[in-house]
Amino acid sequence: MLRDVILVGAGAIGLLSAVILARQGVSVTVLEAGEIGRESSWAGGGIVSPLYPWRYSAPVTALAHWSQDFYPHLADELLAMTGIDPQVHVTGLYWLDLDDEAEALAWARQQGRALDSVAMAQVYRQVPVLGPGFERAIHMPGVANVRNPRLVRALRAALAALPNVQVHEHCPVRGFIQEWGRVCGVLTDSGDMRAERVVLAAGAWSGELLKTLGLALPVEPVKGQMILYKCAEDFLPSMVLAKGRYAIPRRDGHVLVGSTLEYEGFDKTPTDSALASLKASAEGLLPALADAEVVGHWAGLRPGSPAGVPFIGELVSHPGLWLNCGHFRNGLVLAPASCRLLTDLMLGNRPIIDPRPYAVDGRLA
Ligand SMILES: Cc1cc2nc3c(=O)[nH]c(=O)nc-3n(C[C@H](O)[C@H](O)[C@H](O)COP(=O)(O)OP(=O)(O)OC[C@H]3O[C@@H](n4cnc5c(N)ncnc54)[C@H](O)[C@@H]3O)c2cc1C
Repeated sequence: MLRDVILVGAGAIGLLSAVILARQGVSVTVLEAGEIGRESSWAGGGIVSPLYPWRYSAPVTALAHWSQDFYPHLADELLAMTGIDPQVHVTGLYWLDLDDEAEALAWARQQGRALDSVAMAQVYRQVPVLGPGFERAIHMPGVANVRNPRLVRALRAALAALPNVQVHEHCPVRGFIQEWGRVCGVLTDSGDMRAERVVLAAGAWSGELLKTLGLALPVEPVKGQMILYKCAEDFLPSMVLAKGRYAIPRRDGHVLVGSTLEYEGFDKTPTDSALASLKASAEGLLPALADAEVVGHWAGLRPGSPAGVPFIGELVSHPGLWLNCGHFRNGLVLAPASCRLLTDLMLGNRPIIDPRPYAVDGRLA
């Protein structure tokens, strides 16, 4: 029986892993360098699908499909536990003028997911605010977006209600304690902390922390900038995506437009050039936004990893140290399955999916 765990990082991945473990009776200590859920998990768009799901490998698809099916249940459970609704908003998604439409349709047929080619006249009827000039569309009706800042607030509240959880903010982990060939704790500015196992869920910073053990984990920060508009509640009935840029409607009429993909190290300053470029994309997709005010502009650091396949499991070379990181552009959609898989493995339960593609050893640079 697993007694206690230290979780490093309080983004969606760390928080949800902590909730699952704590509900199974494990004593959990969450250590967060800054404030809970204020990094990538707050900054993201919350589309509950990879942007172009057919371009990903089977391991990402397996996590995504499990999670997509589970998200409504997760939202209901969190709402019941905390009174905070993460607002899983099923709007569907139109992809416009794709170069690889045939591949997308073939993938969906093979996966048994609903994705259809749609006449443009029908798209313009469904989304009257869509800009002119688009020629082709495919549509996935079941795709949702989750209001990620609320998701992390709900997870935080769920943890606060559990008696066997301690959360320390402003407590950066500096390194790991090793004894008898096992990782058995972490080094922090407030002293050493010990537990039977340590889980690293530090998002884009995970690679930096593993360097303290001499390990080269290929997880790097990839900056993404977003802008936000406030429109009428019925302004945009569906998510739309063209040329790598998307618009996401929230239930209350907020519309997010994203995102950039920048390899700039750990700098997350929003820039004027990205603002101009995102506004141009927004107005190309939805011309009425030219008259709307941008009410928010921010950047976050995605935990970039090779092919976006996360690292989930124990480091064989460092028993006691577990990883759940490297979710790149898909950490919100992949969170439920990733955290369930990690905790299944930690608790000795039958894993929901084959864990081998996510194993850490053999994938270090
Ligand atoms: C602009 C943008 C748009 C996105 N859109 C989507 C989308 O539509 N759908 C989707 O699924 N995903 C999306 N993502 C990706 C998604 O946000 C991430 O994959 C996901 O949030 C990663 O979660 P995480 O918990 O691993 O990381 P984070 O949320 O970054 O959390 C990691 C935490 O670890 C903490 N930490 C770091 N170092 C230490 C340390 N030494 N000690 C203690 N704590 C530490 C950090 O402070 C942070 O709070 C987007 C991301 C961006 C930036």
